[in-house]
Amino acid sequence: MSTLPAPTFDDVADAARRIEGFAHRTPVLTSRTADAIAGASLFFKCENFQRMGAFKFRGAYNALSHFNDRQRAAGVITYSSGNHAQAIALSAKLAGIRATIVMPEDAPAAKMEATRGYGGEVITYDRYTQNREEIGRKLAEERGMTLIPPYDHPHVIAGQGTAAKELIEETGPLDYLFVCLGGGGLIGGCALAAAALSPDCKVIGVEPEAGNDAQQSLARGEIVHIDVPRTIADGAASTHVGEYNFPIIQRHVDRIVTVSDAQLIDTLRFFAQRMKMVVEPTGCLAAAAVLQKVVPVEGKRVGVIVSGGNVDLPKLSQYLA
Ligand SMILES: *Cc1c(COP(=O)(O)O)cnc(C)c1O
Repeated sequence: MSTLPAPTFDDVADAARRIEGFAHRTPVLTSRTADAIAGASLFFKCENFQRMGAFKFRGAYNALSHFNDRQRAAGVITYSSGNHAQAIALSAKLAGIRATIVMPEDAPAAKMEATRGYGGEVITYDRYTQNREEIGRKLAEERGMTLIPPYDHPHVIAGQGTAAKELIEETGPLDYLFVCLGGGGLIGGCALAAAALSPDCKVIGVEPEAGNDAQQSLARGEIVHIDVPRTIADGAASTHVGEYNFPIIQRHVDRIVTVSDAQLIDTLRFFAQRMKMVVEPTGCLAAAAVLQKVVPVEGKRVGVIVSGGNVDLPKLSQYLA
């Protein structure tokens, strides 16, 4: 893995060709109410409508499309708090490859069921006491499987970047692009796409307040590791950004801001009530920064990545109550 070169926009363009016909070209939605709140033109790239419910299908499918015959025969392994697991399981199924997924035992039930439903073998661990990266590496060695991590991989980053590529191709140049950030796969790829297709666009990363490791990393100039954050944004509850991801963030991301769980719930409610969409808490991060005016964007053309829609319905009803 470490032998692969850092991804560039050419890799994003290559990924777009590889996923074509397999990933959905998701809709870009607008809302007059949202525009009125922000005083700007907002373009929501709705990855909650992507296959398996999140952008992660893009990176996973792209990564598997690079497997050689030996890798295809041995299978793929990964660790994930949810959406990457489903993305790998579904991509592997489509590609006819065996998949093993290491998941936290407290992952949302819907995500775990969906992973098994796509035919993935699930192995659970305790995310507060065990290290998923070690478990994944050990199993990969024992079984000869190829490990595709959720964000720290050039093919994953390139695949995720196709979301912003499609968005900007549809909207034309943007002033701002807001992207949520866990380990930095999505924002890494999207920043490469924005830099190539809309060079004046400022890319803003959005993290949960409880887990602002990327914000700290950018300030300090090195990757900062934090404890597992407790936030409803489970998809962004990572403890550090990736090695491939950080240099891209340093180079192409203008700044990183944070939003609280309460702001995420307000945004989740906005999406449900005004735009009639189910968005998971993590998927609300980027929109929350705009709609809650964490960053003022008056008069600007603003892209917002809505990253996913996988949320347990009982939990969703709690949030909306
Ligand atoms: C994984 C995920 C994120 C975070 O993506 P990174 O590539 O780890 O930064 C954000 N939103 C959703 C819905 C996700 O599944």
